[in-house]
Amino acid sequence: MQATVALAGNPNSGKTTLFNELTGARQHVGNYPGVTVEKKEGTYSSNDFQLHIVDLPGTYSLTAYSLEEVVAREFLVNQRPEVVVNIVDASNLDRNLYLAVQFLEMGIPVCIALNMIDVAKKRGIEINARKLSALLGVPVVPTIARTGRGKKELMDSAARIVQENTEFFPLTISYGDDIDSTMIEMEKEIEANRLLTDTYPVRWVALKYMENDEQILEKGRLQNPELAARLQEMVKKVSHHLQDTLDTYPEAMIADQRYGYIKSILKQGVIYQKYDPNRLYSSDRIDKVLTNRFLGPLIMLAIIAGLYHVVFTYSEVPVGWLESVFGWISAGVSAILPDGLLKSLIVSGIIDGVGGVLGFVPLIMFMFFGIAFLEDSGYLARVAFMLDRVFRIFGLHGSSVMAFIVSGGIAGGCAVPGVMATRTLKSPRERLATLLTVPFMNCGAKLPVFALLIAAFFAEYEALIMFMITLGAWAGALLVAKLLRVTVIKGSATPFVMELPPYRMPTFKGLAIHTWERTWQYIKKAGTIILGFSVILWAMMSFPALPDSKVVEFEARRQAVMDAAPAASVSELESIPQGAELSREAISLKEKLNGMHYQEAETALRYSIAGRIGTALESVSRLAGFDWRTNIALVGGFAAKEVVVSTLGTAYSLGEVDPEETGALSEALAKDPGWSPLVALGLIVFTMFYSPCFVSVVCISRESGSWKWGAFAIAFNTLLAFGLAVLIYQVGSVIVS
Ligand code: GDP
Ligand code: MG
Repeated sequence: MQATVALAGNPNSGKTTLFNELTGARQHVGNYPGVTVEKKEGTYSSNDFQLHIVDLPGTYSLTAYSLEEVVAREFLVNQRPEVVVNIVDASNLDRNLYLAVQFLEMGIPVCIALNMIDVAKKRGIEINARKLSALLGVPVVPTIARTGRGKKELMDSAARIVQENTEFFPLTISYGDDIDSTMIEMEKEIEANRLLTDTYPVRWVALKYMENDEQILEKGRLQNPELAARLQEMVKKVSHHLQDTLDTYPEAMIADQRYGYIKSILKQGVIYQKYDPNRLYSSDRIDKVLTNRFLGPLIMLAIIAGLYHVVFTYSEVPVGWLESVFGWISAGVSAILPDGLLKSLIVSGIIDGVGGVLGFVPLIMFMFFGIAFLEDSGYLARVAFMLDRVFRIFGLHGSSVMAFIVSGGIAGGCAVPGVMATRTLKSPRERLATLLTVPFMNCGAKLPVFALLIAAFFAEYEALIMFMITLGAWAGALLVAKLLRVTVIKGSATPFVMELPPYRMPTFKGLAIHTWERTWQYIKKAGTIILGFSVILWAMMSFPALPDSKVVEFEARRQAVMDAAPAASVSELESIPQGAELSREAISLKEKLNGMHYQEAETALRYSIAGRIGTALESVSRLAGFDWRTNIALVGGFAAKEVVVSTLGTAYSLGEVDPEETGALSEALAKDPGWSPLVALGLIVFTMFYSPCFVSVVCISRESGSWKWGAFAIAFNTLLAFGLAVLIYQVGSVIVS
């Protein structure tokens, strides 16, 4: 067998020394075509194979920043050596692996020579080569180039790669949300137009655009100027965004993430420093505490509980303000408009529906601010790192954690980008298990539902309940993932590594931008999609209207009550302004009339399309304590989970006796005899787990490649949620009584 092997590595890693050891006298020195970079070639022979060895110029990176880098990269791309032997200085492992990671990103067959292990040892560094090899997914052979130790093993494993035709898939590292999502878009374009894909992997081309690689930019321009301009525009956009939010730029971000990737590999028991090397960076020092095996998880729980406490405590006041503002608007509008359909549409359909959702804007904003802080500071990546160990037990990956967090793992994300984020998972099984379970997280749309129910029934324990909801969501997601991984998605786990970027102090500007972007999305959604569904559901709750005969009947009954009452109190009710003191007779008459009005409104709601659907479902939903009104809300929630709140808002508004005395929806629920903390708890759990919203289902189907998984998510999640809600209600009823 014959093959070409290129030796690559940082300057001074021992390439030339190793080259001499391997080839002895059989070498030839020349220049790379057209440039004055020295090119050395030689031959290594063993019993069963002969390898043509090329000593590449020393480089720190594979970006076309220097002549050496260009030469090395061109050689790799054009000559396509069968194997690259990456010589790594073991005494300076983290810096040297930076180049190795770039080979992996390129998907080049690579084998690592862990050189200078004698120097490393002298400095008290011990390296577990087998573990390093398992985590990187490539062979790692310890060598001492100066004495020739390990050279035979090294050449054997290089030859094995050729003989066994081992496949190398380009390594996918997350470069942070902003860059990742832009790259996904870019990859689509690059793939569709086959830009440079004859020579390079798709993601790599996108990456080089992101890194502003002059050579690739030039080649791209030559092949497809229009697309090249578009790609550069996309990069520019994300650059500005990074500049504004994190005060950084793509190349720096990418480099940070690569180092983070390396660091997290080394942290997993690969490197053991016997004595204090006296060079701990501040990030490492912080990590010693924050990702400590015992302290870390405790601190993590404390941080999240603290976040909820702060958010709920301080948002209470502004949420109250907004609620009263919407109350005034609603009262004002109903005073102006004449009774009728238009008034009902505007007050009950729009103001009380959408207002219910918008009322929670301050809470959402506080929550997003806290999460932006955790994310921008680099702490969220540590959360993922710590949860990795737990996730493996459930057949998932540490990189699933990021998808869960994006979907609302701490609160207030969205399952749609969460499902997309699973693209960084290499193993298809873990990816599928992740994307089917991310909808269990507490996305921003579920928050107002929880906030409403918590305010109505658990006002004293807001932060605690929210904390329990979060733990419950994770527990549910992990258990379901495990269930899927031992049944429908069986298969063993693949090794993988998390990125640990350095800690940064977030800038206030960056936090403000991130918070506002997400809050604005919430508001926009309330003003568009939620408004639309709110109106549709209002119509379904208003039509068909009660038949005239029924209306006449109610009118007659009302008249009968009036006639039976003392004339004085009737005239008192009609003449005295709102809020004035009434006589006892007048009050009793008013209560009777209100009761009848309520009855009529309820009869009308039940008579409507939505009411009929809700009533039809009641025979089943009663098992979980949900009445027909809740059923309407839950069916609406399939469109978007906020609709649960807006629908309840409309339903209770339609039944309202006196719009001028309207209280917050949470008060209405707390007063309704059909509700109890137990029902609310069941509804919270149901909302956590039932069918993902429509958009998420579409996304799940697309990303999993089959509508079957979308249908599965609807059916399985709803059954699971209902089962849990029934369990809570039935067991709870026994305990309470
Ligand atoms: P290059 O720049 O990658 O070609 O590195 P060189 O082969 O020129 O080596 C740089 C220096 O490191 C030389 O002084 C070598 O003798 C020394 N060196 C190379 N490999 C080893 C090794 O495994 N152990 C020790 N102790 N020194 C080494
Ligand atoms: Mg050299």
